[in-house]
Amino acid sequence: MNYRCAHRWAFPKWGAALEAMTDDLAPPVGHEVTLRVTHCGMCHSDLHVQAGGFDMGGGKLSSLERAGTKLPVTMGHEIGGEVVEVGPEVQGVKLGDKVIVYPWLGCGSCLVCERGDEQLCTRAMRNLGIQLPGGYADLVRVPHARYLVPIGTLEPARAATFACAGITAYGAIRKLDPLDAEDHVAIIGCGGVGMTAVALYSATSPARIVAIDPDPAKREAALSHGATMAFDPNAPDVLKAIGKACNMNIAAAVDFVGSESSSSLAVNLVRRTGQVVIVGLFGGEFRMPLPMFALKSLRISGSYVAGLHELRDLVALAQRATLPQIPLDLRPLSGVNQALDDLTHGRVVGRVVLQP
Ligand SMILES: [Zn+2]
Ligand SMILES: [Zn+2]
Repeated sequence: MNYRCAHRWAFPKWGAALEAMTDDLAPPVGHEVTLRVTHCGMCHSDLHVQAGGFDMGGGKLSSLERAGTKLPVTMGHEIGGEVVEVGPEVQGVKLGDKVIVYPWLGCGSCLVCERGDEQLCTRAMRNLGIQLPGGYADLVRVPHARYLVPIGTLEPARAATFACAGITAYGAIRKLDPLDAEDHVAIIGCGGVGMTAVALYSATSPARIVAIDPDPAKREAALSHGATMAFDPNAPDVLKAIGKACNMNIAAAVDFVGSESSSSLAVNLVRRTGQVVIVGLFGGEFRMPLPMFALKSLRISGSYVAGLHELRDLVALAQRATLPQIPLDLRPLSGVNQALDDLTHGRVVGRVVLQP
């Protein structure tokens, strides 16, 4: 294989289908590393990237183009593979190492980056699969070897999904206060990330999990991965039904959808002193009567992926504990457009992982 020529699936225009393209890679310099991609997970946020931005509510769209993202875009930020070339200054990584990649790169030097939260960099986003070419390709160039995390004995396809679905779920549930066995946590939205949160939370907390998703197949999967009960958010009188089933004791809700209806369900579900964490990027506007903040002593926060150290923690956790495993749907990279279409129409249970 020629490690200086990458075969990518990229979109040439915002909203367009992905096309096969090739481009030449210069020899790695400094701390750069080239990986041969063996697996790349597909994320719901790819649909927003392909569309060119996020729905900010009130008819407004954020624009990746205005923020400096250049076409064509090679998506794919859940990258697993094998090290095939290293720059002259790379240390601690050798050819043949099996790794996953932390893709949420910032400037590396602002105060937020220095504290380990590069995903929230205040200066420059350099995310792999958005601003920099990602893993929907046979080769990927990583700007610095420190973003590689060895997977040890973990299954490579599953480990790849840790870089977004895994740490997004992990980062969100780590924001929750410690809870007891009689407390309930609502997990709203049981796609790949929500399902990972159900699995991780059931492995790390005694609290009961209420899974909420309109798709019966996803509710079924959530029940077999650690949820105690599951509800359809569109069922009549669902707030009352969930409240009754949980003795009105829902201590926290994590919203993996991030829509107007899911965020409203989250704040209405939690008890007084409850915690709401909003993770999903579906879009729209958040509305709530202001007195609710005080009267319920609510805490509402956001959570956006997580830091490199959290990816390392999650890989270590997966090595020492048997985590309930979310379903994976392995497909060839050449079927990427069909897979994106299936994701758009909710025909995916668990996580699609593409293989070049
Ligand atoms: Zn993602
Ligand atoms: Zn920074």
